[in-house]
Amino acid sequence: MRDKQFVILGGGISGLSAAYYLKKKIESEGRQDHILLLEEASRVGGSVHSISEKGFIFDGGPRGFLAGGRRTLQLCKDLGIWDQLEVSSDASRIRYIWKEGRLHPLPKGPLDLFTSKVISWREIKTLLGEYFRRNNASSEDESVADFITRRFSKDILDNIVELLITGIYAGDPKRLSVRSIFPKLRDLEDQYGSIIKGFLKSKKQKSTESFDPEVMAINKRKLVSFKGGMGVLVDALYNDCHSFMECNAEVQSIRFQDNNRASISYEYDGSVKTIEADHIIFTTPAYVTSNWLKSLSSELSELLNGIEYAHIHVACLAYHKKVHGYRGFGFLSPRKEKLNILGCIWNEMIFPPFAPSGSVNLTAMYGGACHPEMKGWTEDQLISQTLEDLETTMGISDPPDIVKTFFYDKGIPQYNIGHFDRINRIMEIVKKNPHVSLLGNYINGVGINDCVRNSYQFIEDLEI
Ligand SMILES: Cc1cc2nc3c(=O)[nH]c(=O)nc-3n(C[C@H](O)[C@H](O)[C@H](O)COP(=O)(O)OP(=O)(O)OC[C@H]3O[C@@H](n4cnc5c(N)ncnc54)[C@H](O)[C@@H]3O)c2cc1C
Repeated sequence: MRDKQFVILGGGISGLSAAYYLKKKIESEGRQDHILLLEEASRVGGSVHSISEKGFIFDGGPRGFLAGGRRTLQLCKDLGIWDQLEVSSDASRIRYIWKEGRLHPLPKGPLDLFTSKVISWREIKTLLGEYFRRNNASSEDESVADFITRRFSKDILDNIVELLITGIYAGDPKRLSVRSIFPKLRDLEDQYGSIIKGFLKSKKQKSTESFDPEVMAINKRKLVSFKGGMGVLVDALYNDCHSFMECNAEVQSIRFQDNNRASISYEYDGSVKTIEADHIIFTTPAYVTSNWLKSLSSELSELLNGIEYAHIHVACLAYHKKVHGYRGFGFLSPRKEKLNILGCIWNEMIFPPFAPSGSVNLTAMYGGACHPEMKGWTEDQLISQTLEDLETTMGISDPPDIVKTFFYDKGIPQYNIGHFDRINRIMEIVKKNPHVSLLGNYINGVGINDCVRNSYQFIEDLEI
């Protein structure tokens, strides 16, 4: 069989991990296939972006992944960066919520619910009452807001679920799809009539995958990063695969041919190159991939283009002294409290190497699907709003010693109502084109763990 040419478009964590696993597969099967990864930006990593300055680590994008993502941990082991891993401190188990003019610690577990000032007795009663509530779901997809209000109450939606959604999707619960965001909850309701009943009765499915004992030894609920920030992971992937990666590569055209091959023209280093590909793996955002696939299928292109993205603005602030007295992970601010800030992360408390001893490293987040009015904010607007909100919430009036800002205009794909059917239809069309595959955070989860697991599984299933 002839050697194949694979082309991967996009060098975010989805593209990088796909490249890594594909290289391994080609090597293990003793083949001579070629891979080329094309990245438009001057660096790989996509949303993952770490900067190190004066002893501080600033992460513009993701600040970690949960250790429950065994596949990502195993990848760290395989890449030889295990010794650089940093597991979240015990002190960061406490998380806060901004409510009625002050920060309150959130319950750490079910028993704390009864002593917490954040959740009222009425809300606890509503939570437990879900056990007895009749299953009145229709087979249609519904919004997270409708689902939670139907099974629990509007208070539970506003005070608990919305915070979870803000932290992960920066999304609008009235538009996000329960089938895509909380598929397990919806399944439990369908199967057992109630979510709580389902939790109590259903048996945990044991994973059949095997991982290194050191990987398995880390508590699944811990957040994991690296002493140098999340950039360590993308740097390690790049170092392993850089011989076939080209940054600053501007794709100009993709021509799909009748013989199930494609011809890609791209500008690199001042000249235009053309490569014939047997298989293109698109890991670019849905709206970018949509453009390239117009000539293959207009329906596919429209479906991809219909996936919305939420903007996120991030301000990282460093102080050379202790400027507040809180201990924990950080806080989130529910929308009904009407602050602009989505939340703030206390980095050096989660990962002590992220700041010199005695100093403070904060990350404030703004924007999201519920704040379209913040789109297009300037750096000055972001910084002045951050300083105002940190003074209101944490009483910080000192000016920061270092400030870094990051703007993600289309930061996080929104799994809105109908997303599940949309992705199924997209995959149905893609299947008819064996030389094209799609990966990325708009399919099967937005987290780092989701992206790595999806890329791994895709390459496992790929017949080369
Ligand atoms: C602010 C923020 C905070 C987050 N926090 C967390 C967190 O704490 N934990 C977590 O698990 N997840 C977090 N996420 C989500 C997670 O980081 C992303 O979902 C994930 O990194 C997406 O990876 P990806 O490779 O699918 O996409 P991307 O990172 O978007 O990569 C796509 C790549 O394609 C490239 N590209 C675009 N157009 C072209 C083109 N025409 N040609 C070639 N290349 C192109 C882009 O430059 C980019 O490098 C966060 C996301 C954001 C924005």
